[in-house]
Amino acid sequence: MRVGIIALLQESNTFIAQRTQIGHFQSDLLATGGEIRKRFAGAHHEVSGFLSGLDDAGIEAVPIFAARAVPYGVIAADAWQFLMSMLRAALDQAGPLDGVLVAPHGATVSEPEPDADGFWLAELRHRLGPNIPIIGTLDPHANLSPRMVHATDALIAYRTNPHIDQWESGRKAASLMARTLRGEVRPTQAAAFPPVVINIECQETAVSPCRHLYAAADAQLQRAGVLSNSILLGFAYADVLEMGSAMLAVTDNNQRFAQQLADELAAQLWRQRNDFVGRPNSVAAAIEQAKGLDGPVCLLDTGDNIGGGSPGDGTWIAQELHRRQIDRALVCLCDAATVAQCETHRAGEKVRLRVGGGSGPLQGQPLAADFSLVDLRDGRFEESAARHGGCSQFDQGRTAILRTDAGLTLLVGSQRVPPFSLGQITSCGLDPSQFQILVAKGVVAPMAAYRPVCRHFIRVTTPGVTTTDLSQVQYQQRRRPLFPFETDFEWNASNQLAATFP
Ligand SMILES: [Zn+2]
Repeated sequence: MRVGIIALLQESNTFIAQRTQIGHFQSDLLATGGEIRKRFAGAHHEVSGFLSGLDDAGIEAVPIFAARAVPYGVIAADAWQFLMSMLRAALDQAGPLDGVLVAPHGATVSEPEPDADGFWLAELRHRLGPNIPIIGTLDPHANLSPRMVHATDALIAYRTNPHIDQWESGRKAASLMARTLRGEVRPTQAAAFPPVVINIECQETAVSPCRHLYAAADAQLQRAGVLSNSILLGFAYADVLEMGSAMLAVTDNNQRFAQQLADELAAQLWRQRNDFVGRPNSVAAAIEQAKGLDGPVCLLDTGDNIGGGSPGDGTWIAQELHRRQIDRALVCLCDAATVAQCETHRAGEKVRLRVGGGSGPLQGQPLAADFSLVDLRDGRFEESAARHGGCSQFDQGRTAILRTDAGLTLLVGSQRVPPFSLGQITSCGLDPSQFQILVAKGVVAPMAAYRPVCRHFIRVTTPGVTTTDLSQVQYQQRRRPLFPFETDFEWNASNQLAATFP
């Protein structure tokens, strides 16, 4: 038996003017064939889980194509054509296949294909025909489309946010593939699309309100004939028709039952919809709260969420920490121009700089201050633990460590790296436990990395292309009605597809 592996992972933020180019994939991951196994060796990633699961089942794994880029803007048309050509050529080389394990992100948008995941999965289905199983994983931030569901036999989303079960999700998909190929089961899936946007602030799976939804999903898994179920929390920063939440269920050859299970979860979300609306918290209020708590306290900069595509140079919180002369505070920023300027100085020198804010007014004004240049580092680090994103190697480029006299430390990298590993800080010779306030540019995802040192997490509502104040986001393409943008409507699971996907 030979099972192919295809991964195409990028979360695309359509509110960013810049496009994701092929270079963004090349600098993260763009590989075919045997190179894929090398790149995922030892990583807590679903592709590593695919490989491990197939090896254990005695099935030959055929790595075909893997592409991943850090979340950013829509994939440019030429980059998309490049990826598709490369994927098709790799499939041509792969030889006969008995099944394919796929790892789409689920919230990928390209210029020619807004439902990018649905596009390549449908093309794969067309190429393989109806009888070769296509089974895979999804990031729970997927904006699931009917096309993704129709093109595949089973998709299994990670069950945690922060995502610390990516490897396990890959193993589950591989195991389901093995059982399917042995003829033990016939996976049959159905989806429900409740017209609800879950605010990203409310997407931490271990706590309320998410916890109750996942408990209901876990209970369903105990019922006979249920092979899998998934909650798609959705990604609100993509202005596409399928933006929003969804539920998926996979049964053993029982379409009606799969639909019933997905509908049950959708109905529960609909009943609880008021619990999934975010609550704003100002920068000033958050800093006041953080001052009075046992440190280190992590302030989550939600408007500059790098893992949601944001530039990472937002200064709203840094400005306020500086203005208030708060000491023992650390902010990581991405600002290549500042790093280049620092390269002309030596460690220990005083430098007048304007740091961050370069991406535009939503990111705040550059922080203008006198800094001591503490150090310059190469910016590479590794992570061996299970952390959000499942990456093991990071490169934030040349990095400057700067400190004001009042004690605000800036760690300024020259490439965007989401805060998914404390290695970002420790590799620069800093001890995160020595700070009262650590600012992480994210909403939920950084918590996996920061929890070992931070006693408290406070979400801060800042402006930006990932603002959690969704009333500030201008949509053209989304479904209507959609809660909480529209509130004066009723919904139930019957005839839901016609209602939500015109
Ligand atoms: Zn995600």
